[in-house]
Amino acid sequence: MTTAAPPPPRHQDHVLYEVYVRGFHDGNGDGIGDLAGLTQKLGYIRDLGVGAIWILPHYPSPLRDDGYDISDFRGVHPDLGSLDDFARLLDRSHALGLRVFTDLVVNHTSADHPWFQSARLGPGRPHHDWYVWSPAPDRYRGVRVIFSDTETSNWTLDPACGLYYWHRFYSHQPDLNYENPEVRAEMLSVARFWWDLGVDGFRVDAAPYLFEREGTSCESLPETHAFLRELRRAADSYETPRVLLAEANQRPDDLLPYFGSGDEFHMALHFPLMNALFLAVRREDSRPVLDVLRNSPALPRDCQWAMFLRNHDELTLEMLPPEERAYMLEQYGASRGSRLNLGIRRRLWPLMLGGRRQIELLHGLILSLPGAAVLYYGDEIGMGDDATLGDRMGVRTPMQWTTGKNAGFSDADPSRLYAPVVTGPEYHYAGVNVEAQDQKPTSFLNWLRRTLKSHRRTAAFRGPGIWPVDTGNPRVLAFTREAERSVVLCVNNLARSVQPALLDLSAWRGRVPVDAMGGARFPPVGSERYLVTLGPHSFYWLRLEEG
Ligand code: MG
Ligand code: CA
Repeated sequence: MTTAAPPPPRHQDHVLYEVYVRGFHDGNGDGIGDLAGLTQKLGYIRDLGVGAIWILPHYPSPLRDDGYDISDFRGVHPDLGSLDDFARLLDRSHALGLRVFTDLVVNHTSADHPWFQSARLGPGRPHHDWYVWSPAPDRYRGVRVIFSDTETSNWTLDPACGLYYWHRFYSHQPDLNYENPEVRAEMLSVARFWWDLGVDGFRVDAAPYLFEREGTSCESLPETHAFLRELRRAADSYETPRVLLAEANQRPDDLLPYFGSGDEFHMALHFPLMNALFLAVRREDSRPVLDVLRNSPALPRDCQWAMFLRNHDELTLEMLPPEERAYMLEQYGASRGSRLNLGIRRRLWPLMLGGRRQIELLHGLILSLPGAAVLYYGDEIGMGDDATLGDRMGVRTPMQWTTGKNAGFSDADPSRLYAPVVTGPEYHYAGVNVEAQDQKPTSFLNWLRRTLKSHRRTAAFRGPGIWPVDTGNPRVLAFTREAERSVVLCVNNLARSVQPALLDLSAWRGRVPVDAMGGARFPPVGSERYLVTLGPHSFYWLRLEEG
């Protein structure tokens, strides 16, 4: 079933498209999106202009945490299809030039996993030592509780064996015991199982939490990094090396070690920069972004950030200082109903109150800042959310394809859908859908396709570095990117009003700025500061060409 992958990865050039398979397209009419349905829609994803898809957990699971609670690491959830369907998805994706990333959940299993069911029979029973036990809930005191809305402790008493087990997430997700070499060997074997099938990379879930040590935060421990480097060595053993993307919601200083010396992760999701972008646009101030860039150290060769705006979780604010977090909650989390843990459970468009220019600007930023951009399914057509659904389900509603039955997501009776289609007045699928946006040249979807095309054609975006440019105006963020002897100047107006910027382009005297989107040529850079005027929330990508 092994399939040939596209040419060697230039993972740093990719735009990834994050797909919630359950919500994307239903191939068998049972009301639940599946791998066959996704396979039918790969052409749409390819035509968007992205290089890879990342699918959320596809494993057998009781779905108490929407699939992040895995009960068999080598299978496919029957709702989503079979291993054969998975292989077909890989084949078709590779034929279209799309790479496939999946989620690898390394830290924990479902309590329903046969390992845990055996483990809880007591010490000495098979797999007992695959989990972390204690006779009393008094080890690793002071370690933060992540799902603070639902869990009060990282320990839960298992009535079957009378011992407490350790869990960093829900109490139905016991942590694996990474001290045990059998656990480490098994998880490496699970990784190889999917890589052998043709999976191109993993987004590694909850990477910081693998090992525990008394007297520490039990996060990002040296032992955890050592295991992750072992995972990387396994990834590198393939002729087409497999790519590792870290989910590590940590401060910038603590993120750098996840790249090791280029021998750990290839990419890491940049949570601090995501927070800074939302702050900057609301405060009309470039400084939060510049601060994060200043504190984002140079990465080892061939490593890169993954930039994103929204994803399948709440917009998490846990890494912000309390004062900025309060500001964000006040500005973006208007109603209490949209708060979750330390974040806001909204999709991008409702979060930005449908402000198209701001949304374009934010996309311009994640595409032009160094890193691979990650788009979340549905944001490209301006989908809304459903705040009446619990937990994070409100941002995981069915993809809206057409004005037809169930928005073209499924042929099933509407009462059988895994979640209702969005029918609120502002984001009703009758208006917000792929078909409608496809036909309309001015739609956001078509804007994004054109922008992704310009992005691909701008070689300078493939370089790792970024050089801030002084603008004389804190509301305007400007920087250059360089690669393969090409240079692009990016100028972004974070304000809702027209702004001037006097750019210090002394390093580029004589160059001619050329708009990367429309091709218009600007006057050459002279000896004075270079004046650019920008409309509300507008941004320019200007190639600096030799005169
Ligand atoms: Mg189905
Ligand atoms: Ca752990």
